[in-house]
This record gives sequence, C-alpha cells and structure tokens, in this order.
Amino acid sequence: MTASFDAIIIGTGQSGPPLAARLAAVARRVAIIERKRFGGTCVNTGCIPTKTLVASAYAAHLARHGADYGVMIDAPVQVDMKRVKARKDAVAGTASRAVEKWLKGIANLTVFEGHARFESPSTVRVNGNVLEANQIFINVGARALVPPMQGLDQIDYLTNSTMMEIDFLPEHLIVVGGSYIGLEFGQMYRRFGAQVTIVEKGPRVIAREDEDVSQGVLDILRNEGVNAEVRAECMAVEKRDGKIAVKLDCAGGSREVMGSHLLLAVGRMPNTDDLGLAQAGVQTDARGYIEVNDELCTSVPNIWAIGDCNGRGAFTHTSYNDYEIVADNLLNGEHRSVKDRITAYGLFIDPPLGRAGMTEAEIRKSGRKTLVGKRPMTRVGRAVEKGETQGFMKITVDADTRQILGAAILGVGGDEAIHCILDVMYTKAPYTVLQRSVNIHPTVAELIPTILGELKPMA
Ligand SMILES: Cc1cc2nc3c(=O)[nH]c(=O)nc-3n(C[C@H](O)[C@H](O)[C@H](O)COP(=O)(O)OP(=O)(O)OC[C@H]3O[C@@H](n4cnc5c(N)ncnc54)[C@H](O)[C@@H]3O)c2cc1C
Repeated sequence: MTASFDAIIIGTGQSGPPLAARLAAVARRVAIIERKRFGGTCVNTGCIPTKTLVASAYAAHLARHGADYGVMIDAPVQVDMKRVKARKDAVAGTASRAVEKWLKGIANLTVFEGHARFESPSTVRVNGNVLEANQIFINVGARALVPPMQGLDQIDYLTNSTMMEIDFLPEHLIVVGGSYIGLEFGQMYRRFGAQVTIVEKGPRVIAREDEDVSQGVLDILRNEGVNAEVRAECMAVEKRDGKIAVKLDCAGGSREVMGSHLLLAVGRMPNTDDLGLAQAGVQTDARGYIEVNDELCTSVPNIWAIGDCNGRGAFTHTSYNDYEIVADNLLNGEHRSVKDRITAYGLFIDPPLGRAGMTEAEIRKSGRKTLVGKRPMTRVGRAVEKGETQGFMKITVDADTRQILGAAILGVGGDEAIHCILDVMYTKAPYTVLQRSVNIHPTVAELIPTILGELKPMA
C-alpha cells in the first residue's frame, strides 16, 4: 500500500508524540511509526524505570539507617529484587501503555508499528507500506554504545536496556563507565546489597563536571562502599572461574577487578544506522548523529531531526524542547533556536546533583570576570534536619553583567532547588533579583539568596 500524509514522524520518543498531536490538532494528516515500545528510551529503559529503581534503593538505604532517626527495624533489611522489578515494570509499563493509548486515540493520526526506513526524501517504508509526506520528522533516539574492548565477544554483558530484565541481586556488579548512567546504577545496586565496582577510563568520574563536583559525587558513592577505579585507560575482559575479570591496564599491568556481572555504561550511539538516511540525502556526522541547523532542520529542507539523534541534547527535556522549537517555528511562524537553551540536567544518585549553565572550566575558557559562592550542605538547615548533609551548593556569576553563569547543587533536594536558579537565568535578570525573594523555610532553596550574598572572585 502507498499512503499520503502531510507529515510522517519516525519514533515515539519524547518529541515525536507531542509533535504528532500538535500537527494532528491543526488538521494535518499525520503518520507516526514505532518499531518497539511506545514512549521510547525514557519511558521503557531510561529515566522512568531507573528513577523507579532509585526510589526502591533509597527505601532500602533509609530502612538500614532507621536507627539514626530513632526508628528501630529489628530484622535485617532484605531487598526482594523480584518485587523491585515488578514495581519498576508496573510504573514504566503504565507510562508506555498511556503513550500508546493516547496516540491511537488522536484524530488525524495513524499509528504504524514496525521499523521505518527512508526510500527517498519524501517516502518512508514500514512493513511493506510506503508512506509519503512533504514533511518528515526523525525522533529515533539512541542506544547503549558497545565499545571495542578486548574479550568482550567472549562474555555476557549488560546494558541499560538488559538491566531492566534483572530480577536478582548480582554478587558483584562491575560498571564500566563513571558517568551519569553508570553512577546511578552503581549506587542503586550497592543499596540493593551488591558489591559494586565502577571502572572509569578518565582521571575522575563525571569528568565533564567541575573537580569539586566530581570529588563530591565520588565521596558520596565511596561512603556507601562503592568501589571506584579511575584511569583504567585500556580495559580488557575475560571469563575466569565462572566470573568476569576486567583488566584495567591491558598494557601488562596487574590492576584487575573480578566480578559476577558487567554493565557497560560508556555512552550512547544514535539509531541512525539502519534508517536509509543515504536514500533521503540526510547527512550525519562521523558518530552517526544527524546534522541539523539551530532550528533542527537537516541537510534536506523538508526533514527535521529531533531528540537525541541530532546530538544537540541527550535528555528528555531537551528532546521535548526540540518538539516545541520545531512546532512553534512551523505552526506559529517563530524562529526559535536550540541556541536559546541553557544546559541543565540532573544526576539522580542520592543525594542528587542539579546542574545549570556553565562549568568553571567553561567560564575560564570564556575569559569572563567571575564571582562564585559556595556553601556545604552541612550549613543548610533542611539538610541537617533530614540527616542528609553530604554535598554543597555553588553558584557562579558574571562580575560585569551580574547574570548567573552556572550552578551546581549536589545535595538533598538539589534536583528541584536548581530550578530557582535556572528560571532566573532564562530571564537574564541580575542575580540580585533572587536576593529580594522571600523563600520558604526550611528548604534547600532558601539558602540561594544567602550564597549570592557571599560571592567572592573565582580563583
Ligand atoms: C539509563 C538511562 C537513564 C536516563 N535518565 C534520564 C533522566 O533521568 N533524565 C533525562 O532527562 N534523560 C534521561 N535519559 C535520556 C533520555 O531517556 C533520552 O534523552 C530521551 O528518552 C529522549 O529520547 P528521544 O526523544 O531522542 O528518543 P527515544 O526516547 O530514544 O525514542 C526513540 C524511539 O524511536 C524508535 N525507533 C528508532 N528507530 C526507529 C525506526 N527506524 N523505525 C521506527 N521506530 C524507531 C525507538 O524504538 C524508540 O521508541 C536516560 C537515558 C538512559 C539510557
């Protein structure tokens, strides 16, 4: 069958579905195609299931520390991994089914289930059907990168996707990759009761962050007994005595970790390799990310790439914002640009890290005269009351414009409190406006004006 539409959307990640709904609402005939589970990574193997697991891990942690709060739990705390997984499956499954039901109920929208490939700049084939449209939007997302590593073809390894099927406690989980995904899984499994070793190639975990942030995160993990090995510049793996041995120096050194399971968390690669992009003339970069301009249009004028596959963001909120940019530009005649977006994200270990704007390294490179304010969480009343005083809050400000340049809140509530700063950054107002707000006591955010009153020149 050949069918004509006004728009085709490939993938039901975080930008495809809202775009489909918005186009269909203005009477465009839209097709949306999904090859696997509705909702994509965030819903099925990313944010939602991992944060659901993080919540179970937090419950286990708090139960073990009940006595600190005067709550006595006499029997040793046990984690039932089957129930942990069932809870995760229920939360993620409900979300995925909701996306499917929503899409299938939208007027003017036809849902196709199957793998889509371009046949030309205006046609896409799915399950033997050829769909044609003047506008095509690619929202195919990304998957776990499997790096070239000596011996990897000889062992079973896990990725963020296959981790979703685990309903038992690994004896010793080795996590290759000390970045956001690896650290969340690492702490979570330590709290479930596994031995955990995180192995990182670089000199420190989350090396993109400021050194004090990396160190603060490492301290939090080590305080709970997570082992971390950095500078594992060349890794090799092998099966030995029913276990997995990871050599950290394949040049012949003796550093090695033995574990029962191996999780690869070394980055992502875009799902663009089997999409027929060459047939459409859509260009990608060397890593397979689709090249787009600041309004997210590809090298072909009637094709857009939104979400992780364009390499301009790697988060649910950036993918959703891609939808907003494209929809407003197409339907409202605006010229919204991805350049207007301020970097912001969370690392959902416990306590979490909330980040907004530039790092100190980026600020130094820009040559700005900068002021910085910092306060340990031990001096934040709310953290003390909760007995969760690890971490710190840090804010950087441009000394000339008085605008906030960046912030890191590593501590209890940091993932929420960061938004007070982020919102002001979007207004481009001077930081002093925050000093006039009367914040609620006792909260983590109430200390933000205080920190801004203690700014010093950045070293
Ligand atoms: C473990 C983990 C934790 C994460 N945690 C967070 C978090 O806490 N916060 C956050 O903001 N982000 C997080 N992310 C990132 C977040 O999940 C993604 O940035 C987000 O899902 C945006 O993805 P997307 O819209 O680009 O597409 P995706 O969600 O990846 O969806 C793409 C969809 O396209 C489909 N598809 C692909 N190719 C084809 C094809 N050829 N034909 C038909 N369908 C196709 C796929 O099946 C998939 O359903 C996490 C990611 C991981 C892996």
